Amino acid sequence: VGRHPTPQAGPAPVAGVDRILAIGSGKGGVGKSTVSSNLAVALAKQGRRVGLLDADIYGPSQPRMMGVSKRPGSPDGKTIIPLQAHGVTMMSIGLMVDPDKAVVWRGPMLMGALQQMLGQVEWGKLDVLIVDLPPGTGDVQLTLCQKTQLTGAVVVSTPQDVALLDARKALDMFSSLRTPVLGLIENMSTFHCPKCGHESQIFGHGGVAAEAEKIGVPFLGALPIDLDTRLAGDGGTPIAAGEGPMADAYAQLAKRFID
Ligand code: ADP
Repeated sequence: VGRHPTPQAGPAPVAGVDRILAIGSGKGGVGKSTVSSNLAVALAKQGRRVGLLDADIYGPSQPRMMGVSKRPGSPDGKTIIPLQAHGVTMMSIGLMVDPDKAVVWRGPMLMGALQQMLGQVEWGKLDVLIVDLPPGTGDVQLTLCQKTQLTGAVVVSTPQDVALLDARKALDMFSSLRTPVLGLIENMSTFHCPKCGHESQIFGHGGVAAEAEKIGVPFLGALPIDLDTRLAGDGGTPIAAGEGPMADAYAQLAKRFID
């Protein structure tokens, strides 16, 4: 009997998970984690079973943004029990390492950690798993797109040219990896002054919608620069968990992923 070459492992589903949405960005600091946590919470409020995987290995923000700090348990030393916060099942590499220490890992370790978080975490049955990617186009994105059956990717950008420039690279990466791009979100769009009502376009306005039209992908919506959004994220309760215009905006956005 001749030896057959081992077939390359193709993208695999995550057991029990219906859809996997990856949220990416070209640049850091554009609000990718903020959008991820708020979308997750908004979907949970709409009765969906939602998971949030913080795959931003070098700068995991979700423990802070979702208000959790407990180390996840592993009763059998193999499976990892995720945490629950604001109706969302969540896991972050930030919960497994010392929060004040830098994660200095080479590619293979990084890939191992990602696969562990996908395969060994007891996600249970989920309608949707949201993956908060690191910014840019590195190993984590590559591994995730190649090894996991993603429903699609969403790219968050501010309207600023330097952010859009990098967002284009992220879009290009998803398309070369044949990951469907579900759409673009403009974050830190218009700022409405709460005192005088004046609108300013601090990072510009409309650039992301124009880019979406140019490359033929859906524009999913614009989110303003909003002090309460920032305070809520820093305080560990995403703004979408409460009531008000930003919670409504996230509820609208969430509907676009599930309906
Ligand atoms: P990324 O994941 O792209 O690095 P973050 O979500 O961590 O970005 O956001 C960077 C900072 O900007 C955080 O302090 C966050 O609270 C803040 N932020 C994000 N979106 C908004 C917004 N729409 N209005 C005000 N602050 C925001």
